[in-house]
Amino acid sequence: MGSESYEGRPQLFIGGNWRGSSTGETLDLINPATGAAIAGVPIASRDDLDEALAAVATANAPWRETSAYDRAKILHRAATLMRERAAHIGRVTTMEQGKPLAESTAEAYACADIFDWFAEEARRAYGRIVPSKQPGVRHLVLKEPIGPVAAFSPWNFPTTIPSRKIAAALAAGCPVIIKPAEETPGSCLELARALDDAGLPKGVLNVVFGVPAIISEYLIASPVIRKISFTGSTVVGKHLARLAAAEMKPTTMELGGHAPVIVFDDADLDKAVQLSAASKYRNAGQICVAPTRFYLHDAIHDAFVEKFAAAAGALKVGDGLAADTRMGPLANPRRVTAMAEMIGDAEAHGARVASGGSAIAGEGNFWQPTLLADVPNSARIMNEEPFGPIAVTQRFRTFDEVVAAANRLPYGLAAYAYTQSAERATRIGDAIEAGMIGINFSQLTGPETPFGGVKESGHGSEGGIEGLEGYLVTKYVAQG
Ligand code: NAD
Repeated sequence: MGSESYEGRPQLFIGGNWRGSSTGETLDLINPATGAAIAGVPIASRDDLDEALAAVATANAPWRETSAYDRAKILHRAATLMRERAAHIGRVTTMEQGKPLAESTAEAYACADIFDWFAEEARRAYGRIVPSKQPGVRHLVLKEPIGPVAAFSPWNFPTTIPSRKIAAALAAGCPVIIKPAEETPGSCLELARALDDAGLPKGVLNVVFGVPAIISEYLIASPVIRKISFTGSTVVGKHLARLAAAEMKPTTMELGGHAPVIVFDDADLDKAVQLSAASKYRNAGQICVAPTRFYLHDAIHDAFVEKFAAAAGALKVGDGLAADTRMGPLANPRRVTAMAEMIGDAEAHGARVASGGSAIAGEGNFWQPTLLADVPNSARIMNEEPFGPIAVTQRFRTFDEVVAAANRLPYGLAAYAYTQSAERATRIGDAIEAGMIGINFSQLTGPETPFGGVKESGHGSEGGIEGLEGYLVTKYVAQG
């Protein structure tokens, strides 16, 4: 296979072969900025899935026996190809997912960084030797690849989320079957193509699409699969965790969030507004770590709302392919319906629309960057993840009150706080129940740092040295 790239031709990638489904069935692929069908996505049949399972079963032993040094070389080569192709990958992502081209292209570069990071970590899957109380005995603690992985990734970061799963698993020595979201097939296929061109042996990575519930049930039940990794909603994550538990298979679950943002009265307001408005509306708010519940100290609430509303109102919304677009469309019509319902419900509960609040007329799934002020806990949006461009505010007076408010939901993914007091920064970092906390800082994702949640936001970490751990098992060898 050469480096000819997908644009409008999604395929399955099974056993190193690019092909349609055995039944010829396809789903329509829709451009969210225009509503137009731009391609067909093949629907894998059970026969196709059996082929993918056979491919990882065959590839497993040779890949785990390939030295970490040689695995790393392939991953580094793939990273170089991703950088060379970043402009193209970005365009594919924007046409399928809608985000502005600059964000899509940056995402492609971020994937290359993820592959480089895990290529390096592959060579550091250290075990240890434990001193024995018996003379001449060695206690060896070894780290081994867990085995073939079934991975499921969503549409909001269609290149970086598959990258975290694929790069870590391959680095650890595990073959993968991944089912990316059917709404955004092209970006992950570009990763597969880069790996294929970089010399990844056939069958080590397989990409399938189809009916998510059928594919996940079939793959998770297969004795070939040893590990499940999922990113998506909490409700689907719980379902897949139950299926995995029935087979006693470990899971990594990156699920929903409802990130609180606590702004104390001593915060640098301009910085807090600038950082949190940028991260709220990035990818039209369709980010699991997006700041959502803004708890603003009573003394600065109104000033913050005024500045934040101005920042939201100034954003240029449009087709991600246009150079001046700062926020693209929502990924699908389901999100538009969800925005309308949540805002209507919040208004009915007494919330005030401080900015935006409506769909943007015309073709595509466009929604105004929205800020709702003084939203009571009884409103749905204070309890359910909006996964769209809506921020909500409440007022607080005391530290304990705001900690209780921030921790009141079952989610525990990301949280943010703004204060100029070192003492408060330390206390809030300790008090918030979340897997990741940004203090006077809003960027929580990088290849080197752990990414994951607590409570119903899931378990396991996908970045940092922890990311590799998810695909390793510990073996103890006592040698007399
Ligand atoms: P959804 O819950 O139907 O789907 C979320 C993702 O899970 C999709 O990629 C989908 O293909 C996949 N999926 C659904 N059912 C599955 C199954 N049985 N087996 C395997 N995969 C399955 O919701 P949606 O309308 O596509 O997205 C909206 C919600 O999903 C949001 O409210 C948000 O909570 C969540 N979401 C979270 C993330 C994240 O990064 N954690 C990403 C995308 C969506």
